[in-house]
Amino acid sequence: MKKKSIRTLNEIAQQNLIPQTDFLELKKVVDTFSLTISDQMLQLIDKNNPNDPIAQQFIPSKEELNISQTELQDPIADAAHTPVKGIVHRHADRCLFKLAYACAVYCRFCFRKEKIGNAAETISPQELKNAYNYIRSHSEIWEVILTGGDPLMLKPAFLKKILINLATIQHIEVLRIHTRIPIVDSLKINTEMLDALKCGKPVYIIIHANHPKEFSNEAIQAIAQLVDAGIPLLSQTVLLKNINDNIDVLGQLMRCFIKNRIKPYYLHHADLVKGTSHFRTSIKKGQTLLKELRARFSGICQPTYVLDLPGGFGKVPIHSNYILSTQETEYCIEDHNGDAHAYSDIYKN
Ligand SMILES: *Cc1c(COP(=O)(O)O)cnc(C)c1O
Ligand code: SF4
Repeated sequence: MKKKSIRTLNEIAQQNLIPQTDFLELKKVVDTFSLTISDQMLQLIDKNNPNDPIAQQFIPSKEELNISQTELQDPIADAAHTPVKGIVHRHADRCLFKLAYACAVYCRFCFRKEKIGNAAETISPQELKNAYNYIRSHSEIWEVILTGGDPLMLKPAFLKKILINLATIQHIEVLRIHTRIPIVDSLKINTEMLDALKCGKPVYIIIHANHPKEFSNEAIQAIAQLVDAGIPLLSQTVLLKNINDNIDVLGQLMRCFIKNRIKPYYLHHADLVKGTSHFRTSIKKGQTLLKELRARFSGICQPTYVLDLPGGFGKVPIHSNYILSTQETEYCIEDHNGDAHAYSDIYKN
């Protein structure tokens, strides 16, 4: 087993990435949510910057011990929508398929923080069969979304087998993979992996990145290989306080996606995960940022800002409204400069 990228707290401390005085408290933190940083991400950290956006995402902090009243064990109620192990089926036409709980990095704000890195959560061969059977017997499922953990942590041969098995189910028309690997451990995107992604049905990949600094040369190359192999790429980002909750950073991040042929898809409002309040912004702040993004950056740089409602009610767009008021067919609509305009909705029935 290659253990290279699993960091111990000692290792992090030796590299002066955490204050020595915090060691014992941080030990408690990593006992509940493991610590892993890929070499690639570790090398990007600027130790002279106390607010380094890479360090903030992956180096544990004692603020993780602050658990607020409203933070939840299962923030988006996956458990309530799990008919068989590994499957989350909330929306009729698509389901999540969680194969492994390992990642190349453990993001300190992860929405599945409670489960990630837990070997007991890994799916067994029998459970895998049950999951296939569930998908096969539910013909309303049109799309299967591989998530986890990080599905690209799986061995390419195993991933290929899974994709092919899913692709042979007639009603499954689209496969989707959510991953951070192309950005945090780019060399895993090799010819074997590219081959594994060819399964006879369209595979979409959603790339998770939160800061322009994550786009190293290796990452840019891995992404180019995926697009050149004909795989459509979309993005997802978590809105994170002091990391990307600023219009210049957010705008540059969206431009990085577009420049690298990744279409911005979702900007997530940070979920109510235990011990993540230091990462959370207000919705109001998020809405202002999205308005500025709309006003200053290209239309293709625009993600949808979503909140995953606690209780398992799904993701809902939470942009501010450009329609200021309506009276019958008379609308008052705000433009990007904040000026209001009257509009009469004239149409034929
Ligand atoms: C996020 C999520 C999906 C995917 O939602 P899209 O809006 O299609 O990206 C599907 N199922 C569950 C349970 C989810 O949490
Ligand atoms: S890579 Fe994704 S699943 Fe893994 S810790 Fe980060 S956010 Fe969570």
